[in-house]
Amino acid sequence: MTAQYSDTADVILLDIEGTTTPVDYVFGVLFPFARDHVADFLTTHQQDAQVQTDLQWLRQEYETDLAQGLSVPDWQETEVTAAVAYIHHLIAIDRKSTGLKSLQGKIWDQGYRDGTLRSQMFADVKPAFERWTTAGKQLFIFSSGSVQAQKLLFRYSEVGDLTDFICGYFDTQTGSKREAQSYHKIAETIGVATEKILFISDVTAELKAAQAAGMQTLFSVRPGNHSSESEGFAAIQNFDSV
Ligand SMILES: [Mg+2]
Repeated sequence: MTAQYSDTADVILLDIEGTTTPVDYVFGVLFPFARDHVADFLTTHQQDAQVQTDLQWLRQEYETDLAQGLSVPDWQETEVTAAVAYIHHLIAIDRKSTGLKSLQGKIWDQGYRDGTLRSQMFADVKPAFERWTTAGKQLFIFSSGSVQAQKLLFRYSEVGDLTDFICGYFDTQTGSKREAQSYHKIAETIGVATEKILFISDVTAELKAAQAAGMQTLFSVRPGNHSSESEGFAAIQNFDSV
């Protein structure tokens, strides 16, 4: 059998966007899904206490916008769907809003659970997960999306539930993906030397941080990625050689 990049690694640590999943999945699928389903979702779930809390946050944000003289869509208080235009506005301007993020999370959660939303995985991902697991390697994820969002993404994928293959998840609660310290922490948490971990990502700044911590690295080149400039890192087009 030919040598694989993972031969000297006990652990494979994966980025998501640009590595297992198209970079456009979030902006091309998730955000439009939330935007298109917000009216239906609010109508169906307006009695839920947590949805009410999201709406209160959004309402406060709306009042603040008005007080600051910002131009925002009108939001009459009487009907729950009256919030939709303002929510669409926040999505359009890509506002980092607590209420919006929380509400979007609930809409995606429902979409995944009722089967209308499925995450995208590159075709070689599931075979690689099976191969690595059979070879006795442990698989972990490090992504800027929340651990909860990562779990949903791997549970409800187009190729089925992949969570059984994954030993653990890390998000930015561990630290920035561009800081060596985060990779030391991950190795410590897993209980493996950094040298035994192979990190794969489409962002060279992340690979530099992982390398500085002592990890093995591979640069992921996938269709739709922002950059194919590997800056000297070994590059792969898929997981077949890993
Ligand atoms: Mg990425």
